[in-house]
Amino acid sequence: MQYRILGDTGLKVSILGYGCMRLPIKDSSKAVVDEREAIRLIRMGIDGGINYVDTAYRYHGSRSEVILGKALKDGYREKVLLETKLYTPKLRTANDFDTLLDEQLNKLAVDCIDIYLVHGMSYKRYKNIIEKLNISEKAQEAKQAGKIKHFGFSSHDSPENIRKLIDTGIFEVILVQYNLLHKDNDEIIKYAAEKGLGVVLMGPNAGGRLGLEPAGKMRDLLTKGRNDFIDLGLKFVWSNPGVTVALSGMGSEEMVKDNLALASQEEVQLNAEEQQRVEKIAQGYKAIADIGCTQCGYCEPCDEGVSIKLIMDLLMISVCCAGDWEDAKAKYKAIGNHKNYPGEKADACIECGVCETRCPEEIPIITRLKQTHDLLTGLDSYNT
Ligand code: SF4
Ligand code: SF4
Repeated sequence: MQYRILGDTGLKVSILGYGCMRLPIKDSSKAVVDEREAIRLIRMGIDGGINYVDTAYRYHGSRSEVILGKALKDGYREKVLLETKLYTPKLRTANDFDTLLDEQLNKLAVDCIDIYLVHGMSYKRYKNIIEKLNISEKAQEAKQAGKIKHFGFSSHDSPENIRKLIDTGIFEVILVQYNLLHKDNDEIIKYAAEKGLGVVLMGPNAGGRLGLEPAGKMRDLLTKGRNDFIDLGLKFVWSNPGVTVALSGMGSEEMVKDNLALASQEEVQLNAEEQQRVEKIAQGYKAIADIGCTQCGYCEPCDEGVSIKLIMDLLMISVCCAGDWEDAKAKYKAIGNHKNYPGEKADACIECGVCETRCPEEIPIITRLKQTHDLLTGLDSYNT
């Protein structure tokens, strides 16, 4: 496992962090975490060198902290830096901070949280809650009481507003989104690192999109022996010198093992050839964004019965590696042959053009229908 220093905290952290937002779930109920398996996987990650674990008050219906706390028993607590988040909707008065923090320590069954982040901070939330209730002073008191060690925030706000939050000078760590498909925070990561803040990343796999099996020509960009782009996604973020740790929500043993192997390689940054592939992957995904169907359905009904909205969805699924290329083909085949897939396939289109006049996104529907038909009946690959 490779390690980096978390800004001015001086803490040595693994470049791969265990995110406890996507723990394994029981087959019988998607809402219920398979606790035994979750604990086993978290410990497997720690045994493999991970020393940064991330959770939040609300993850998994507020159960994530409890499960992580169980995973950290039997000597595992001492091996990690524990990060969780302050759930601001619970803050009505400054004293609510203490109540909430005590509840979280209790749920986690620990005496101290190493890194305590304001969850989902926006500049507006900072002004309305953090500043107004003087939460930074409460955080200082919590530090003096030994209940937390470092204070920071997670945010999906604009880079400009994140910069303003950094400039308040009260935070030591930030958690922001960054991946090869969303590079908006590139500059802010650099800025935070220059200011001495530790930079933790969420979403290195673009919300799981890079973990899905790619379709069509995108398959040519895969690393040998892999079925997804996770290796390139992680290497992309680790190639940014401002990044300290990338969180990954690992819900299976395979993911834990694959990610540990990657983070333990001697070279975790992209080489020139991989860099080129990463750029092509980003361009490929942009093509999907360029399809631009919002699934509003205004294009329907079609007098010929063409299932336009569904077909557009299958096109986006196929091109954007929504995972199951074969599944998209099967669904397309089912159109007109199964009650869940009513209507006609794209080859029923007589090119009257009515749907295109109704589409608010001005999508060239006729062209896209033809492309989808070719793609999903195995005749061609998608080209913009
Ligand atoms: S162009 Fe094709 S899909 Fe669109 S309304 Fe006419 S027949 Fe239907
Ligand atoms: S009207 Fe356009 S954006 Fe809406 S579902 Fe149809 S193709 Fe998609």
